[in-house]
Amino acid sequence: MKLMPIKIIILSLFLLVFKVDNAQDTTYTRQCVAQLSSEAFHGRGFVKKGDKIAANFIVNELKKWGAKPIGASYFQNFNIDINTITKAKVSIDGKAQVLGEDYLVYAASSSLKGKYQLYQPVKFSVKSFFEKSHNKEVFVFDTIHYKSPDLIEKYESLNKTGMMGKVPAIIEVRSSRLIQTQRTYELKYPVLQFAGDRWDSTATEITIDVKNKFIPNYTTQNVIAYIEGEIDSFYVFTAHYDHLGRVGQDAYFPGANDNASGVATILTLAKMWAESGKKPKYNIAFMLFSAEEAGLLGSEYYVSHPLFSLEKIKFLFNLDMVGTGVEGLSVVNGKEHAKASELIESINAKDSLFSDVRIGKGSANSDHYYFHDKGVPAVFLFTRGGPQFYHDIFDKNATLPLNKVQEIIRLLNLFMEDYE
Ligand SMILES: [Zn+2]
Repeated sequence: MKLMPIKIIILSLFLLVFKVDNAQDTTYTRQCVAQLSSEAFHGRGFVKKGDKIAANFIVNELKKWGAKPIGASYFQNFNIDINTITKAKVSIDGKAQVLGEDYLVYAASSSLKGKYQLYQPVKFSVKSFFEKSHNKEVFVFDTIHYKSPDLIEKYESLNKTGMMGKVPAIIEVRSSRLIQTQRTYELKYPVLQFAGDRWDSTATEITIDVKNKFIPNYTTQNVIAYIEGEIDSFYVFTAHYDHLGRVGQDAYFPGANDNASGVATILTLAKMWAESGKKPKYNIAFMLFSAEEAGLLGSEYYVSHPLFSLEKIKFLFNLDMVGTGVEGLSVVNGKEHAKASELIESINAKDSLFSDVRIGKGSANSDHYYFHDKGVPAVFLFTRGGPQFYHDIFDKNATLPLNKVQEIIRLLNLFMEDYE
């Protein structure tokens, strides 16, 4: 078909308006992700109180969009025990290792400073291990270069029972992917995790300076706000804002996809409601949780200290890692809610939002879990495809596509219109 000139003008105008609208909202989402994942937020962990910097930022944004606290404060404080790593300097055979690229310090590690021989057993047996002292040797548990089945089998139980405390430190050489965590306890020794392709299996000596600080009863906070609707029950949108923090001055975990993306999407949703000037039919609550990475602690605390009856929740969407999407959208726990999942699929089909929607079964892998456990209808959305950075120093704003935020928001808004 050939376009007539007048049609071209109309179409261009339409495209221009459409583009400007989209660009505006994506710009705001992008700004939020950029801020939350910047070094000034320290990886939104518990070194340098990154969690508090992030929580304050979120409250300021929610205030801008007219979302009100439920009760006296936007903050819901709770206490956690948390182990933090405040320093990490490691050399192998005199060569300095790069934190985040060559190795990570396991989150439950404790402090150690000194020079040690490496104990890399080709064959391992518990009996021979205890026949001599290993207090001057760092134990190398290497599943890549030495595939000793006995060692692999024994390692987890040795580690759990603290028998590994017979050595000053442990090096784990695992697959090529380094994945950081948060831990609420400290071991008696540090554990260094090396990427398989970065580890020299002939190395003999390590110089190590790792410091931890275990903080019992650290006060962190959830951020809760809402927009009042006409009917006193709630659509709830949750996302965790915490991430893996930083290791001293040496490295931080930006967490752009995990989960600055979810927080920024919720803030964008709040902004769109504010700018629409409309009152929603139902209340809309925004819950931004802390300490998800340490074991869903913020949402667990909320569910046992809810700010309104959990029975008033009509439906809950948890957004965690929604900054990609070329391969589609996943709905964790969707199989538990057939009616809601059918609606999600039909909205998606009608509006061509995602190339693929996968309705999955339940899993305790994000903040929807404790709500579901208490009988609240809840699903967890994440997007698929694009960069695969996960729990590492590379999950940055610069490489996050954020290309499906508009589609997610449209899906959520249409769901609220149509769900009964
Ligand atoms: Zn995570």
